[in-house]
Amino acid sequence: MLSVTPIPALNDNYIWHLEKDGEHWVVDPGEAEPVIKTLGEAPLSGILITHHHYDHTGGIKTLHKHYECPVFGPESIKGVTNPIADGDTFLLLGLPTEVRGIPGHTLDHLAIILKEESASGSRQPHLFCGDTLFAAGCGRIFEGTPKQMLNSLQMLTKLPKHTLVYCAHEYTLSNLRFAHTVEPGNTAVSERLAHTQTLRQSGEPTLPSSISEELATNPFLRCQFPEVAQSGAHHLGRETPEELSEVEIFSSLRDWKDHF
Ligand SMILES: [Zn+2]
Repeated sequence: MLSVTPIPALNDNYIWHLEKDGEHWVVDPGEAEPVIKTLGEAPLSGILITHHHYDHTGGIKTLHKHYECPVFGPESIKGVTNPIADGDTFLLLGLPTEVRGIPGHTLDHLAIILKEESASGSRQPHLFCGDTLFAAGCGRIFEGTPKQMLNSLQMLTKLPKHTLVYCAHEYTLSNLRFAHTVEPGNTAVSERLAHTQTLRQSGEPTLPSSISEELATNPFLRCQFPEVAQSGAHHLGRETPEELSEVEIFSSLRDWKDHF
């Protein structure tokens, strides 16, 4: 059985720690020390990287030296030993794994999807999406265009609804406050906000999320819903969302959140 647990790092990053049958991998180690401390005597079998930002890659050098393990990630990143790209498939921890290119936050951004098969034969997908899809939010658009980012997010939402979503930051509470402002009439958002406040008050992580939870509460995935479209239009100084495309609504929300 695969276990996935967050290792808190830097300010609000999570380094995801994957363990199965005594084999250990980590995703996006922004720093090395918390990983070494968590693993204790256990060896690290490999590292996965979603994109080039320092808070996801800062630990590569030390961990690679310490464990002599492979580093899977975008080819251009220093320290990557096994370049991976959109469309690649391989076995990771004995599980079928798929790579998808999801440009927008950065142009090199990858999603990594592991498919775990349960004893009953049902498949549980696990999505590692770095800084592209967040719980109730999405990453800032640093290198791509709003259209690229929206396409990448929409591609992720086509994964099975029960896919578990492992984001690289604990941003859920502030994202939900924004979501509630955009869509005050969405009771799924209000309920998730209340539950998230309780979790954060006791210092608990709010992740993983799921695709179905995101479809219900993430305003960036809900631009076609009337209340979200209306709020997006208002932010642009328009009376109504008529004549605005989905990507214009999306872009308006992203700009609004950047200054929220
Ligand atoms: Zn980033």
